[in-house]
Amino acid sequence: MSRRTFLKQAVAGSTGIALLGCKSDGISPTPASGGAFPRIISTWQHGLAANDAAWKTLQSGGSGLDAVEAGVRVPEADPEVRSVGYGGYPDREGIVTLDACIMDAQSRCGSVAFLRDIKHPISVARLVMEKTPHIMLCGDGALEFALEQGFERENLLTEASRLDWEKWKETSEYRPVINIENHDTISMLLIDGQQNLYAACTTSGAAWKMHGRIGDSPIIGAGLFLDNEVGAAAATGLGEAVIRTAGSAMIVEAMRHGMSPDEACRMVVERISNLHKNDPDWENLQVGFIALNKRGVYGSYSLRPGFDFAVTDKTTPSKMVKAPYALG
Ligand code: ASP
Repeated sequence: MSRRTFLKQAVAGSTGIALLGCKSDGISPTPASGGAFPRIISTWQHGLAANDAAWKTLQSGGSGLDAVEAGVRVPEADPEVRSVGYGGYPDREGIVTLDACIMDAQSRCGSVAFLRDIKHPISVARLVMEKTPHIMLCGDGALEFALEQGFERENLLTEASRLDWEKWKETSEYRPVINIENHDTISMLLIDGQQNLYAACTTSGAAWKMHGRIGDSPIIGAGLFLDNEVGAAAATGLGEAVIRTAGSAMIVEAMRHGMSPDEACRMVVERISNLHKNDPDWENLQVGFIALNKRGVYGSYSLRPGFDFAVTDKTTPSKMVKAPYALG
């Protein structure tokens, strides 16, 4: 048994978390990250512009909560980002439906799911948190709440996304398809100058999904989780796989019990891999996680190559970091 394998088993034993299928070879190297705060990390290339907006908000005296909200509103409003908000790919009926959630250092959280016609679901999620006794609203109820709060109803289906949907229908046989190309949620994790954590996540979900489908992204514990004593984690990729493993909550718990952000992300990806490797759609499965601990150390891991995330802090200009992955 190698020292690395032994150490992992020791951690797994002490935490009660089984490191299924953990390998010490054949895996791309993990980027090292020292701790820093404030620091912001966000999934995918669109995380760069989102981080910049969040950073500016922090610099101008906004709270961490203001910053994550302002940050993810950028891709929500950008029609070129086809996986979030306005311009996102629709479901198989041609309707854009959105999922989002937000969480703060006091473990307050708000969420909306299966929301249509509102460009900024993250801001609705924040108001669910701040103005209702609930955490999660969905569908018509979420829409009614948004309208009551003064949000405008607007068509989110752009011509470009409509044309792609028409094209999809030609050969799809109306089957929802999950593949490694058609999902790119933005999830943002932030640690402020006082080492308090904040997080937000927003998406149009898997393209061509069944009408009414809700993914992992608005589900606290699945698509996003934060515990201010420990750290935060968030997901992108096939929501069904992330929900099944309570992915983000599991990563935070693993960090609580001593794993680094990288190790914790990898543990959950490997758990997902073991659960799904005999599925007919295995070749199309992609999941990726980012995590940020209480010291401002970040980490990530994905099942397949191609997942990257944006990092912003005061020592570096914003940069993209490639996540290490399990399968080449
Ligand atoms: N996780 C999202 C979902 O399943 C997709 C994504 O990451 O874009 O809805």
